[in-house]
Amino acid sequence: MKNTNMKHRRRKVVRKKQCRLCENKIYEIDFKDIDLLKRFQTEGGKILPRRITGNCFVHQKKLAAAIKRARILAFIL
Ligand SMILES: [Zn+2]
Repeated sequence: MKNTNMKHRRRKVVRKKQCRLCENKIYEIDFKDIDLLKRFQTEGGKILPRRITGNCFVHQKKLAAAIKRARILAFIL
């Protein structure tokens, strides 16, 4: 039996996702800044995709590079 509940109306959420790093005017990502890097990782240590974090292209690239560097130095997972 299909439950067709029409109460759930889908509303369009038009909210621009702004890059948090741009908002905070962080232009250089330090790979030693573990707290910052962890915010953009999953619990397993994976880098969160841009569609989730809302980062801009430039910051996502810098972030990925910083995370990878931090991984080599074993600061983070
Ligand atoms: Zn940005």
